[in-house]
Amino acid sequence: SGKFFVGGNWKCNGTTESIGKLVSDLNNTKLETDVDVVVAPPFVYIDQVKNSLTDRIDISAQNSWIGKGGAFTGEISVEQLKDIGCKWVVLGHSERRHVIGEDDQFIGKKAAYALSEGLGVIACIGELLKEREEGVEQLKDIGCKWVVLGHSERRHVIGEDDQFIGKKAAYALSEGLGVIACIGELLKEREEGKTFEVCFKQMKAFADAVPSWDNVVVAYEPVWAIGTGKVATPQQAQEVHVAVRDWLRKNVSEEVASKTRIIYGGSVNGGNCAELAKQEDIDGFLVGGASLKGPEFATIVNSVT
Ligand code: 13P
Repeated sequence: SGKFFVGGNWKCNGTTESIGKLVSDLNNTKLETDVDVVVAPPFVYIDQVKNSLTDRIDISAQNSWIGKGGAFTGEISVEQLKDIGCKWVVLGHSERRHVIGEDDQFIGKKAAYALSEGLGVIACIGELLKEREEGVEQLKDIGCKWVVLGHSERRHVIGEDDQFIGKKAAYALSEGLGVIACIGELLKEREEGKTFEVCFKQMKAFADAVPSWDNVVVAYEPVWAIGTGKVATPQQAQEVHVAVRDWLRKNVSEEVASKTRIIYGGSVNGGNCAELAKQEDIDGFLVGGASLKGPEFATIVNSVT
């Protein structure tokens, strides 16, 4: 039955300080030599743990993306895990199955990919345990000021629904984080003339959940424009931005409608940002691919009108 294996899944627990203490306690503890020991810190602390924990203990991630990295907001790739020194990944954990909604096939694909890249897989099966996913406290602890919620990749690839996203937004706000609230229609929905309907429904879920819009930026990201090089025309974007602002006016308040920034995302680059930025209701951008190139990102930042 192989070597004894003990894994510590820290789940969504800990702070820089408490994890520092835990690592130093582990470093000062004598561990049996004939046991494989692995700990799985939350993503944001893996680097800290890697840099301070004894080599005697291997490091695992608690989740990984299903394939190569890229345009998958909020996910962490196997390559990135390997890059920072992870040897293992926990997949199929009940909290991911039952709270986050990952299904067997999705988990299987992740496992295949992680293995193909040389990570060990701790494959979890079993019954539901109700625990929390993301630690807003942890994000704050390491200095995050904002969190992106409702991104199309999390809606359509991961399967988060409107209510789940709304709850996350309310919690993040209650803890003092700013929220970049993403909305946007699929190509099919646009073709069926449902763009406004879809965006308004997504807006309503945010509005129903958040107590205040003070710390919220709305990002309109048509799904067909994300990572495709097919940017919305300035007119297409402006049309939705106005509609969303009107929606806020009618359903929240005049003040929130005029104060809330509505930014555009989807194939924004150094070449198309200026025309988009000129539109009355485009108050900024959420940039994917072009944000990975410093000078081009600076051009987009400087397109402010
Ligand atoms: P791209 O700029 O790569 O199209 O991505 C947009 C996006 O999804 C930002 O969140």
